[in-house]
Amino acid sequence: MCQKGVAALETRVEGAAAGARIQYEGGRLAVPEVPIIPYIEGDGIGPDIWRATERMVDAAVAQTYGGRRRIEWRPLLAGERAHAEVGEWLPADTLEAIRAHRVAIKGPLTTPVGGGIRSLNVTLRQELDLYACVRPVRYITGVPSPMRKPELVDMVIFRENTEDVYAGIEWRAGSEAARRLAAFITEELGNPVSLDAGLGVKPMTQHGSERIIRAAIEYALAHGRRSVTMMHKGNIMKFTEGAFREWGYALVAREYAGRVISEQALWDDFGGEVPAGKVVLKDRIADIMFQQVILRPREYDVIACPNLNGDYLSDALAAQVGGVGMAPGANMSDGLAVFEATHGTAPKYANQDKVNPGSLVLSAIMMLEYIGWGEAARTLDAALAATIADGVVTYDLARLRADAREVKTSEFASAVIERLAAH
Ligand code: NAP
Repeated sequence: MCQKGVAALETRVEGAAAGARIQYEGGRLAVPEVPIIPYIEGDGIGPDIWRATERMVDAAVAQTYGGRRRIEWRPLLAGERAHAEVGEWLPADTLEAIRAHRVAIKGPLTTPVGGGIRSLNVTLRQELDLYACVRPVRYITGVPSPMRKPELVDMVIFRENTEDVYAGIEWRAGSEAARRLAAFITEELGNPVSLDAGLGVKPMTQHGSERIIRAAIEYALAHGRRSVTMMHKGNIMKFTEGAFREWGYALVAREYAGRVISEQALWDDFGGEVPAGKVVLKDRIADIMFQQVILRPREYDVIACPNLNGDYLSDALAAQVGGVGMAPGANMSDGLAVFEATHGTAPKYANQDKVNPGSLVLSAIMMLEYIGWGEAARTLDAALAATIADGVVTYDLARLRADAREVKTSEFASAVIERLAAH
């Protein structure tokens, strides 16, 4: 498509209805034809990748639905801009707007350095109780990968977001609190702990474990996936990660009898073939899981894990399909979702129109699917894949591909928009 064609696609939506809020009713999203979706453009490279993503999403929606549907984007303040303008890193109005609008998208935010300031991403997850960090990991042809067969990787990680060692309950070695706690554990509970140890607490609850495993199972059932694997280190941490596994099996027996089957039943009753409409629940110990996702990626599909395991696995799997520059993600609870680029602010590249918008645009594609605009999601996904397959890529992929034509962030967006019509 010529440049005039791109411009036409980018302006065709004028005249559509006024924006309205997405609602959550009876456990389902109700999405108007013109939903208002708040966005945080983010710090560092955030504005560059946001501008490109907004253009690609708007064009895909226009291409798919003509003027009938469009997104009314609403900017929200957070991060460095918020700190400069209103003296706060994450204003209460921003949190409230996300709560009220149900679906939002964000670029990366700087973690403020200095005493007492938590990571903005962690704060956002905790304040909104976004208990599931969802990371689809799928190969896009043409992205350089260290794997021999990266196309076999197609997994979705559901990482618990609120518990585990991430609760931030820890004491420095030698502090009064650490000494007192060590003395209590030694004397009252009978487990000898050195008085000069640093200490941390790993809280994991039945409620927290069940809701992430349930979310993974619901996703697997809704998307025709074959299995959900609980990844845990329960052989060592029996009452936290071991309990995660036990709570998972008990949940399935209680709520999913007939729809979710065990690995044993898979072999005994179904000859190793997952029957249509059913999902197999497996569990794997964390260390072997890291081997298996590399050696036998085909056997893994949806993965449910506690917070720390999920953190490690998300980046390890992202590396298999080309790194965090191309890894989408979302933080969700029931009826509330914030889609986000999974990489950081890469400040040395800020305002250079240089970096890869892939992570953010793939997150936007997840968002389109989540609001039920699957056709637009697939159109954009196909155009993105075609652009990369044609070798039109940003610097990060260009430096790994001899056949590539390196383009700027904005040029990459234009190349994707040009290819929308063909999909
Ligand atoms: P980073 O911003 O992710 O950057 C690390 C490197 O990754 C970059 O130097 C670049 O590699 C590559 N990279 C990242 N995004 C890319 C993109 N879109 N396209 C191409 N390459 C990309 O990690 P960081 O330097 O450790 O963190 C910087 C800041 O971001 C910190 O304040 C951190 O707290 C914050 N952070 C925020 C989030 C979030 O908001 N979700 C997540 C992580 C970090 P090359 O140098 O090799 O080109």
